[in-house]
Amino acid sequence: MSLVKEKGYFGQFGGSFVPPALQEVLSNLDANFEKYKDDEDFIQEFKYYLKDFVGRDNPLTFAKRLTEKLGGAKIYLKREDLNHTGAHKINNAIGQILLAKRMGLKRIIAETGAGQHGVATATACAMFGMECVIYMGAEDTKRQALNVFRMELLGAKVVSVEKGQGRLKDAVDEALSDLVQNHENTFYLLGSAVGPHPYPTIVKHFQSIISEESKRQIVEKEGKLPTAVIACTGGGSNAIGAFAHYLDDEDVRLIGVEPDKAPSLTKGVPAEIHGFKCLALIDEEGNPMPTYSIAAGLDYPGIGPEHSYLKESGRAEYYAVSNEEVLEAFQILSKTEGIIPALESAHAIAYTLKFAPTLSKDDVLIVNLSGRGDKDVQQVFDML
Ligand SMILES: *Cc1c(COP(=O)(O)O)cnc(C)c1O
Repeated sequence: MSLVKEKGYFGQFGGSFVPPALQEVLSNLDANFEKYKDDEDFIQEFKYYLKDFVGRDNPLTFAKRLTEKLGGAKIYLKREDLNHTGAHKINNAIGQILLAKRMGLKRIIAETGAGQHGVATATACAMFGMECVIYMGAEDTKRQALNVFRMELLGAKVVSVEKGQGRLKDAVDEALSDLVQNHENTFYLLGSAVGPHPYPTIVKHFQSIISEESKRQIVEKEGKLPTAVIACTGGGSNAIGAFAHYLDDEDVRLIGVEPDKAPSLTKGVPAEIHGFKCLALIDEEGNPMPTYSIAAGLDYPGIGPEHSYLKESGRAEYYAVSNEEVLEAFQILSKTEGIIPALESAHAIAYTLKFAPTLSKDDVLIVNLSGRGDKDVQQVFDML
Protein backbone atom coordinates (compact mmCIF):
# COMPACT_ATOMS: atom_id res chain seq x y z
CA MET A 1 0.00 0.00 0.00
CA SER A 2 1.63 3.23 -1.10
CA LEU A 3 0.31 6.09 0.95
CA VAL A 4 2.11 8.96 -0.69
CA LYS A 5 0.09 10.09 -3.68
CA GLU A 6 1.65 13.43 -4.16
CA LYS A 7 4.99 14.00 -2.48
CA GLY A 8 4.51 14.87 1.17
CA TYR A 9 0.80 14.02 1.16
CA PHE A 10 -1.01 11.11 2.76
CA GLY A 11 -4.45 11.35 1.22
CA GLN A 12 -5.66 14.85 2.09
CA PHE A 13 -3.17 15.16 4.99
CA GLY A 14 0.38 16.42 5.25
CA GLY A 15 1.85 19.01 2.91
CA SER A 16 3.92 22.01 3.79
CA PHE A 17 2.24 25.31 4.62
CA VAL A 18 5.15 27.58 5.46
CA PRO A 19 6.59 30.94 4.28
CA PRO A 20 8.74 30.86 1.11
CA ALA A 21 12.07 31.32 2.91
CA LEU A 22 11.39 28.28 5.07
CA GLN A 23 10.05 26.30 2.12
CA GLU A 24 13.39 26.70 0.40
CA VAL A 25 15.19 25.22 3.42
CA LEU A 26 12.72 22.32 3.62
CA SER A 27 13.01 21.54 -0.09
CA ASN A 28 16.78 21.36 0.27
CA LEU A 29 16.37 19.05 3.27
CA ASP A 30 14.03 16.85 1.25
CA ALA A 31 16.52 16.61 -1.63
CA ASN A 32 19.32 15.62 0.75
CA PHE A 33 17.18 13.05 2.54
CA GLU A 34 16.28 11.46 -0.81
CA LYS A 35 19.94 11.45 -1.76
CA TYR A 36 21.23 9.75 1.39
CA LYS A 37 18.43 7.54 2.72
CA ASP A 38 19.27 4.59 0.44
CA ASP A 39 22.99 5.26 0.36
CA GLU A 40 24.80 2.13 1.56
CA ASP A 41 27.45 4.03 3.58
CA PHE A 42 24.76 6.12 5.22
CA ILE A 43 22.72 3.05 6.16
CA GLN A 44 25.80 1.29 7.56
CA GLU A 45 26.74 4.31 9.65
CA PHE A 46 23.19 4.60 11.03
CA LYS A 47 23.15 0.90 11.91
CA TYR A 48 26.57 1.14 13.53
CA TYR A 49 25.42 3.81 15.99
CA LEU A 50 22.11 2.04 16.63
CA LYS A 51 24.06 -1.04 17.63
CA ASP A 52 27.08 0.33 19.49
CA PHE A 53 25.59 3.48 21.03
CA VAL A 54 21.84 2.83 21.36
CA GLY A 55 22.25 -0.89 22.09
CA ARG A 56 20.03 -2.30 19.33
CA ASP A 57 18.59 -4.76 18.49
CA ASN A 58 16.49 -4.47 21.59
CA PRO A 59 14.51 -7.59 22.60
CA LEU A 60 10.97 -8.62 21.81
CA THR A 61 10.07 -9.90 25.27
CA PHE A 62 7.32 -12.46 25.82
CA ALA A 63 5.18 -11.10 28.67
CA LYS A 64 4.38 -14.49 30.15
CA ARG A 65 2.76 -13.47 33.42
CA LEU A 66 0.70 -10.68 31.83
CA THR A 67 -0.47 -13.12 29.15
CA GLU A 68 -1.53 -15.64 31.82
CA LYS A 69 -3.23 -12.98 33.89
CA LEU A 70 -5.31 -11.74 30.95
CA GLY A 71 -6.06 -15.19 29.56
CA GLY A 72 -6.29 -14.30 25.88
CA ALA A 73 -3.73 -13.41 23.21
CA LYS A 74 0.00 -13.96 23.69
CA ILE A 75 1.58 -10.61 24.47
CA TYR A 76 5.05 -9.53 23.34
CA LEU A 77 6.71 -6.25 24.29
CA LYS A 78 9.03 -4.44 21.88
CA ARG A 79 11.60 -3.02 24.26
CA GLU A 80 12.37 0.54 23.14
CA ASP A 81 12.63 1.25 26.88
CA LEU A 82 15.99 -0.54 26.84
CA ASN A 83 17.54 1.91 24.37
CA HIS A 84 20.23 4.25 25.65
CA THR A 85 18.37 7.26 27.16
CA GLY A 86 15.35 5.03 27.74
CA ALA A 87 13.04 5.59 24.79
CA HIS A 88 12.64 5.45 21.01
CA LYS A 89 13.47 9.14 20.42
CA ILE A 90 17.20 8.49 20.19
CA ASN A 91 16.70 6.46 16.94
CA ASN A 92 15.44 9.53 15.15
CA ALA A 93 17.92 11.93 16.77
CA ILE A 94 20.86 9.88 15.52
CA GLY A 95 19.39 9.49 12.04
CA GLN A 96 18.79 13.21 11.62
CA ILE A 97 22.21 14.18 12.98
CA LEU A 98 23.87 11.82 10.49
CA LEU A 99 21.88 13.55 7.77
CA ALA A 100 23.02 16.95 9.09
CA LYS A 101 26.63 15.74 8.97
CA ARG A 102 26.25 14.68 5.34
CA MET A 103 24.78 18.09 4.56
CA GLY A 104 27.83 19.75 6.14
CA LEU A 105 25.75 21.36 8.92
CA LYS A 106 27.45 21.54 12.31
CA ARG A 107 24.87 23.31 14.45
CA ILE A 108 21.77 21.41 15.62
CA ILE A 109 18.68 23.14 16.95
CA ALA A 110 15.53 21.59 18.36
CA GLU A 111 12.52 22.54 20.41
CA THR A 112 11.12 20.57 23.29
CA GLY A 113 8.07 20.76 25.56
CA ALA A 114 8.52 18.12 28.24
CA GLY A 115 12.22 17.88 27.53
CA GLN A 116 12.46 14.26 26.35
CA HIS A 117 13.26 15.17 22.74
CA GLY A 118 15.67 17.85 23.98
CA VAL A 119 17.54 15.28 26.05
CA ALA A 120 17.72 12.78 23.15
CA THR A 121 19.00 15.52 20.84
CA ALA A 122 21.55 16.81 23.36
CA THR A 123 22.77 13.23 23.93
CA ALA A 124 23.33 12.56 20.24
CA CYS A 125 24.95 15.98 19.74
CA ALA A 126 27.41 15.31 22.58
CA MET A 127 28.36 11.97 21.06
CA PHE A 128 28.92 13.52 17.60
CA GLY A 129 30.55 16.69 18.95
CA MET A 130 27.91 18.97 17.42
CA GLU A 131 26.85 22.37 18.73
CA CYS A 132 23.35 22.03 20.21
CA VAL A 133 20.75 24.71 20.96
CA ILE A 134 17.41 23.67 22.50
CA TYR A 135 14.46 26.07 22.54
CA MET A 136 12.03 25.61 25.38
CA GLY A 137 9.08 27.69 26.56
CA ALA A 138 9.87 29.61 29.78
CA GLU A 139 6.96 27.93 31.56
CA ASP A 140 8.19 24.51 30.47
CA THR A 141 11.75 25.20 31.67
CA LYS A 142 10.32 25.79 35.15
CA ARG A 143 8.21 22.64 35.15
CA GLN A 144 11.03 20.54 33.68
CA ALA A 145 14.01 21.97 35.55
CA LEU A 146 15.72 18.59 35.86
CA ASN A 147 15.56 17.97 32.10
CA VAL A 148 17.00 21.46 31.51
CA PHE A 149 19.92 20.51 33.75
CA ARG A 150 20.33 17.18 31.92
CA MET A 151 20.58 18.96 28.58
CA GLU A 152 23.10 21.43 29.98
CA LEU A 153 25.10 18.58 31.46
CA LEU A 154 25.21 17.09 27.96
CA GLY A 155 26.65 20.34 26.64
CA ALA A 156 23.53 21.87 25.07
CA LYS A 157 22.54 25.50 25.35
CA VAL A 158 18.92 25.74 26.52
CA VAL A 159 17.16 28.93 25.42
CA SER A 160 14.17 29.82 27.56
CA VAL A 161 11.51 31.43 25.36
CA GLU A 162 9.60 34.19 27.21
CA LYS A 163 7.50 35.26 24.23
CA GLY A 164 3.79 34.39 23.92
CA GLN A 165 2.70 32.00 26.64
CA GLY A 166 6.15 30.54 27.11
CA ARG A 167 5.01 27.11 25.89
CA LEU A 168 5.94 24.64 23.17
CA LYS A 169 4.33 26.61 20.35
CA ASP A 170 6.44 29.67 21.20
CA ALA A 171 9.59 27.53 21.30
CA VAL A 172 8.72 26.14 17.83
CA ASP A 173 8.34 29.69 16.46
CA GLU A 174 11.76 30.67 17.84
CA ALA A 175 13.41 27.53 16.47
CA LEU A 176 11.91 28.14 13.02
CA SER A 177 13.09 31.73 12.89
CA ASP A 178 16.58 30.60 13.98
CA LEU A 179 16.52 28.04 11.14
CA VAL A 180 15.53 30.58 8.51
CA GLN A 181 18.30 32.96 9.67
CA ASN A 182 21.03 30.35 10.09
CA HIS A 183 20.18 27.64 7.56
CA GLU A 184 23.66 27.79 6.07
CA ASN A 185 25.15 26.08 9.12
CA THR A 186 22.08 24.88 11.04
CA PHE A 187 19.90 21.76 11.03
CA TYR A 188 16.49 21.70 12.72
CA LEU A 189 16.04 18.29 14.36
CA LEU A 190 12.33 17.56 14.69
CA GLY A 191 11.30 14.99 17.28
CA SER A 192 8.07 13.39 16.08
CA ALA A 193 6.34 12.36 12.86
CA VAL A 194 4.70 15.76 12.56
CA GLY A 195 5.41 19.14 10.95
CA PRO A 196 5.66 20.14 7.31
CA HIS A 197 7.02 17.78 4.64
CA PRO A 198 9.60 16.18 4.64
CA TYR A 199 9.76 15.74 8.45
CA PRO A 200 6.98 13.14 8.87
CA THR A 201 8.63 11.01 6.17
CA ILE A 202 12.12 11.43 7.63
CA VAL A 203 11.05 10.57 11.17
CA LYS A 204 9.12 7.51 9.97
CA HIS A 205 12.15 6.34 8.02
CA PHE A 206 14.43 6.40 11.05
CA GLN A 207 11.84 4.96 13.47
CA SER A 208 10.97 2.12 11.08
CA ILE A 209 13.86 0.21 12.64
CA ILE A 210 11.34 -0.72 15.37
CA SER A 211 9.13 -2.80 13.05
CA GLU A 212 12.05 -3.97 10.91
CA GLU A 213 13.32 -5.72 14.04
CA SER A 214 9.99 -6.77 15.53
CA LYS A 215 8.86 -8.44 12.31
CA ARG A 216 12.02 -10.52 12.13
CA GLN A 217 11.78 -11.31 15.85
CA ILE A 218 8.12 -12.37 15.87
CA VAL A 219 8.61 -14.64 12.87
CA GLU A 220 11.58 -16.26 14.66
CA LYS A 221 9.57 -16.77 17.86
CA GLU A 222 6.10 -17.56 16.56
CA GLY A 223 6.60 -18.45 12.93
CA LYS A 224 3.91 -15.98 11.91
CA LEU A 225 2.96 -12.33 11.89
CA PRO A 226 1.11 -10.81 14.86
CA THR A 227 -2.66 -10.37 15.05
CA ALA A 228 -2.11 -6.72 15.98
CA VAL A 229 0.57 -4.15 16.76
CA ILE A 230 -0.31 -1.65 19.50
CA ALA A 231 1.45 1.66 20.22
CA CYS A 232 0.73 4.95 21.96
CA THR A 233 0.39 8.12 19.89
CA GLY A 234 1.51 11.62 20.80
CA GLY A 235 2.85 13.04 17.55
CA GLY A 236 2.93 9.48 16.29
CA SER A 237 6.61 8.62 15.79
CA ASN A 238 6.94 5.46 17.88
CA ALA A 239 3.62 4.23 16.48
CA ILE A 240 4.48 4.86 12.83
CA GLY A 241 7.86 3.19 13.38
CA ALA A 242 6.13 0.22 15.02
CA PHE A 243 3.58 -0.01 12.16
CA ALA A 244 5.79 0.73 9.13
CA HIS A 245 6.84 -2.78 8.09
CA TYR A 246 3.31 -4.16 8.59
CA LEU A 247 1.44 -1.58 6.51
CA ASP A 248 1.22 -3.94 3.55
CA ASP A 249 0.26 -6.94 5.69
CA GLU A 250 -3.46 -6.26 5.64
CA ASP A 251 -4.21 -9.04 8.16
CA VAL A 252 -2.14 -7.35 10.85
CA ARG A 253 -4.30 -4.90 12.77
CA LEU A 254 -2.57 -1.62 13.59
CA ILE A 255 -3.82 0.03 16.77
CA GLY A 256 -2.88 3.46 18.11
CA VAL A 257 -3.79 4.51 21.64
CA GLU A 258 -4.11 8.13 22.72
CA PRO A 259 -5.05 9.94 25.95
CA ASP A 260 -8.75 10.82 26.23
CA LYS A 261 -7.51 14.28 27.32
CA ALA A 262 -5.69 14.79 23.99
CA PRO A 263 -7.90 12.80 21.57
CA SER A 264 -6.74 14.16 18.18
CA LEU A 265 -7.41 10.90 16.32
CA THR A 266 -10.68 9.89 17.96
CA LYS A 267 -12.17 13.42 18.18
CA GLY A 268 -10.09 15.65 15.89
CA VAL A 269 -11.13 17.22 12.58
CA PRO A 270 -9.03 17.89 9.45
CA ALA A 271 -7.21 21.16 10.05
CA GLU A 272 -4.01 22.93 9.21
CA ILE A 273 -1.80 23.45 12.28
CA HIS A 274 1.95 24.03 12.66
CA GLY A 275 2.54 24.04 8.89
CA PHE A 276 0.77 20.81 7.89
CA LYS A 277 -2.69 19.29 7.64
CA CYS A 278 -3.80 16.58 10.07
CA LEU A 279 -6.59 15.54 12.39
CA ALA A 280 -6.45 18.11 15.16
CA LEU A 281 -8.32 19.52 18.12
CA ILE A 282 -9.10 23.13 17.26
CA ASP A 283 -11.32 25.90 18.63
CA GLU A 284 -13.83 27.99 16.60
CA GLU A 285 -11.03 30.24 15.32
CA GLY A 286 -9.06 27.24 14.11
CA ASN A 287 -6.40 27.51 16.83
CA PRO A 288 -4.99 24.33 18.42
CA MET A 289 -6.70 23.62 21.76
CA PRO A 290 -4.89 22.97 25.03
CA THR A 291 -4.58 19.30 26.04
CA TYR A 292 -4.04 17.75 29.47
CA SER A 293 -2.52 14.30 29.32
CA ILE A 294 -0.71 12.93 32.39
CA ALA A 295 1.94 11.78 29.92
CA ALA A 296 3.82 14.90 28.84
CA GLY A 297 5.01 13.18 25.66
CA LEU A 298 1.43 12.71 24.45
CA ASP A 299 0.25 16.25 25.11
CA TYR A 300 -0.18 17.44 21.53
CA PRO A 301 -3.40 18.69 19.89
CA GLY A 302 -2.53 17.22 16.48
CA ILE A 303 -1.12 13.97 15.12
CA GLY A 304 1.18 13.01 12.27
CA PRO A 305 -0.35 13.23 8.79
CA GLU A 306 0.19 9.56 8.00
CA HIS A 307 -1.77 8.49 11.09
CA SER A 308 -4.51 10.91 10.06
CA TYR A 309 -4.67 9.12 6.74
CA LEU A 310 -4.42 5.61 8.24
CA LYS A 311 -7.40 6.54 10.42
CA GLU A 312 -9.41 7.97 7.54
CA SER A 313 -8.66 5.04 5.23
CA GLY A 314 -9.45 2.52 7.96
CA ARG A 315 -6.06 0.79 7.74
CA ALA A 316 -5.32 1.61 11.38
CA GLU A 317 -7.62 1.92 14.38
CA TYR A 318 -7.29 4.41 17.20
CA TYR A 319 -8.70 4.34 20.70
CA ALA A 320 -8.54 6.67 23.69
CA VAL A 321 -7.85 5.61 27.28
CA SER A 322 -8.33 7.54 30.52
CA ASN A 323 -5.71 8.69 33.04
CA GLU A 324 -7.10 6.19 35.55
CA GLU A 325 -6.69 3.30 33.11
CA VAL A 326 -3.14 4.44 32.38
CA LEU A 327 -2.19 4.63 36.06
CA GLU A 328 -3.56 1.14 36.58
CA ALA A 329 -1.66 -0.21 33.55
CA PHE A 330 1.53 1.45 34.84
CA GLN A 331 1.24 -0.54 38.07
CA ILE A 332 0.07 -3.81 36.52
CA LEU A 333 2.98 -4.04 34.09
CA SER A 334 5.41 -3.19 36.87
CA LYS A 335 4.04 -5.93 39.13
CA THR A 336 3.53 -8.69 36.57
CA GLU A 337 6.59 -8.23 34.35
CA GLY A 338 9.14 -6.28 36.39
CA ILE A 339 9.04 -3.50 33.82
CA ILE A 340 8.08 0.05 34.82
CA PRO A 341 6.77 1.63 31.61
CA ALA A 342 6.79 5.31 30.67
CA LEU A 343 3.36 6.85 31.26
CA GLU A 344 3.17 7.30 27.48
CA SER A 345 3.77 3.59 26.86
CA ALA A 346 1.32 2.72 29.65
CA HIS A 347 -1.42 3.97 27.28
CA ALA A 348 -0.66 1.09 24.91
CA ILE A 349 -0.64 -1.31 27.87
CA ALA A 350 -3.97 0.08 29.13
CA TYR A 351 -5.66 -0.74 25.84
CA THR A 352 -3.98 -4.15 25.75
CA LEU A 353 -5.47 -4.99 29.18
CA LYS A 354 -8.94 -4.59 27.64
CA PHE A 355 -8.15 -6.05 24.23
CA ALA A 356 -6.09 -9.19 24.90
CA PRO A 357 -8.84 -11.03 26.87
CA THR A 358 -11.20 -10.68 23.87
CA LEU A 359 -8.80 -12.67 21.67
CA SER A 360 -7.89 -16.37 21.56
CA LYS A 361 -4.69 -18.12 22.67
CA ASP A 362 -3.67 -18.40 19.00
CA ASP A 363 -3.55 -14.64 18.69
CA VAL A 364 -0.29 -12.75 19.13
CA LEU A 365 0.06 -9.08 20.09
CA ILE A 366 3.10 -6.84 19.83
CA VAL A 367 2.93 -3.87 22.19
CA ASN A 368 5.51 -1.18 21.55
CA LEU A 369 7.00 -0.20 24.89
CA SER A 370 8.17 3.23 23.73
CA GLY A 371 10.04 4.13 26.92
CA ARG A 372 10.91 3.35 30.50
CA GLY A 373 9.10 4.83 33.47
CA ASP A 374 11.95 6.03 35.70
CA LYS A 375 11.21 9.61 34.66
CA ASP A 376 7.59 9.22 35.79
CA VAL A 377 7.97 7.52 39.16
CA GLN A 378 7.93 10.79 41.15
CA GLN A 379 4.81 11.99 39.31
CA VAL A 380 2.98 8.71 39.86
CA PHE A 381 4.04 8.76 43.53
CA ASP A 382 2.49 12.23 43.89
CA MET A 383 -0.72 11.10 42.18
CA LEU A 384 -1.31 7.88 44.11
C1 LIG B 1 7.93 11.38 23.33
C2 LIG B 1 7.42 10.06 23.73
C3 LIG B 1 6.25 9.52 23.18
C4 LIG B 1 5.37 10.25 22.22
O1 LIG B 1 5.94 10.59 21.01
P1 LIG B 1 5.55 9.88 19.64
O2 LIG B 1 6.16 10.75 18.63
O3 LIG B 1 4.05 9.85 19.56
O4 LIG B 1 6.12 8.52 19.68
C5 LIG B 1 5.86 8.24 23.56
N1 LIG B 1 6.57 7.53 24.46
C6 LIG B 1 7.70 8.03 25.02
C7 LIG B 1 8.42 7.20 26.01
C8 LIG B 1 8.15 9.30 24.68
O5 LIG B 1 9.27 9.78 25.25
